[in-house]
Amino acid sequence: MSYIQFLGAAGGVTGSKHLINTDGPSGKSGIQVLVDCGLFQGQKEWRERNWADLPIPVREIDAVILTHAHLDHSGWIPRLVKQGFHGPVYATPATIDLCSILLPDSGHLQEEDAAFANKHHYSKHSPALPLYTMQEAQQCLTLFRPVAFGETKGLTDELQFRFVRAAHILGSGMAEVMLTTKGRTSRLLFTGDIGRVRDGYPQVGCVVCPGPTEGENCDLLVMESTYGNRQHPHDDPRPELAALIRTTIARGGSVVVPAFAVERTQKFLFILKELMETGAIPHVPVHTDSPMAIKAVQIFLKHEEEFSEETKAQIAKYGSPLEWPNFYFDTTQDDSKKINESKYPCIIVSASGMVTGGRVLHHLMHRLPNPKNLVLFIGFQAPGTRGSTIKDGGSEVKMLGQTVPIRAQVAALDQFSDHADTPELLEWLHTFPQPPRETFLVHGEPAAASQLRDTMIKDLRWNVQVAAYRQKVDVG
Ligand SMILES: [Zn+2]
Repeated sequence: MSYIQFLGAAGGVTGSKHLINTDGPSGKSGIQVLVDCGLFQGQKEWRERNWADLPIPVREIDAVILTHAHLDHSGWIPRLVKQGFHGPVYATPATIDLCSILLPDSGHLQEEDAAFANKHHYSKHSPALPLYTMQEAQQCLTLFRPVAFGETKGLTDELQFRFVRAAHILGSGMAEVMLTTKGRTSRLLFTGDIGRVRDGYPQVGCVVCPGPTEGENCDLLVMESTYGNRQHPHDDPRPELAALIRTTIARGGSVVVPAFAVERTQKFLFILKELMETGAIPHVPVHTDSPMAIKAVQIFLKHEEEFSEETKAQIAKYGSPLEWPNFYFDTTQDDSKKINESKYPCIIVSASGMVTGGRVLHHLMHRLPNPKNLVLFIGFQAPGTRGSTIKDGGSEVKMLGQTVPIRAQVAALDQFSDHADTPELLEWLHTFPQPPRETFLVHGEPAAASQLRDTMIKDLRWNVQVAAYRQKVDVG
């Protein structure tokens, strides 16, 4: 009996990992495939799941199908390889390029975390070890195999798949899997993360083409539910953004923008460029302070086929962001330190996006105590992170061993999400020619997933369930 099993992103939004097994629990003669292989992130009890063994021997897994490069979908691949996996990892060319910077960076962070735990003796394991190292992450990249959008890839007579567009980030796809067992074919659709839907809110600053592929037809749907109980603001963020920046610069302050180094940062730079060129904000220096800043921009420029028409027009008009006057890409720690010595107003875009680590900590330590400055959030801040403490009006925040007073102005714009919200998801689901036999919701906090289930049952009258961790579902 073939089944799928939810090994992550069930009951939460991280650790996406779905096993397809065509040969029962022992997994000896059929095919075993993982769709996504992501890291659990966030609170400790989630992160500890990264150390748990999979329910089948890792060596028996034949392949990984990867929907996109975000670490909560890709970041466990080096661990899988470390445990003996040696099959192919199928992904789109842009996803492979993004993984070539994100996975080694993740290995580097794992090593830093282990070193920090050893220095401060707070791990119950002695010595604390990294989940995988930067070198191990680099080595696993040799297993990646490109599959273009629309190309059908047959793994065996039983299993074929292809990627269709998810429009979430550069290279992101949904995996359509055709599974044939005992002469019967089942069509499975794994959405990965779903981007903004074309006919919804106008895509201000969206670098990639908006709109997931419409008219999908499947027997079993495994769908994300991150925004299953929320709606994004639908107004144009640019006037408010320009006003915030103008006011800050006029009082002699600088703007610090915590942002994830890949995708969100590139998106934001294009908006800043447009605001400068149209005279909406002054021409002040913009520092993108990230060790992988230049590589990330180069990867974006390499995949022009993914761009929205607006982005193509901007590049045709202004050229590569790497050559824009006043835009600086700071890759070394010395570059980074020099920004703090500058007395003049500037805009600093730096990771991590939720202020959980990275160079943005140094910038915030310098700029938070001064009311002239502005800290601007352009992404979701998970509860418990420093980002949420600052965003929610805290008076002080601990970072780098110090307590830093928060006197700078703090603002947040919530329009830049890369996930479809509930109305957009419903709009996309309405393009299906017929209901799937079953739908399982993954990748959502429990309240979001259960509300989306209720909404889908009411609005579409589909058979919808919220997936449970390690739950098995028979297919074919
Ligand atoms: Zn994602």
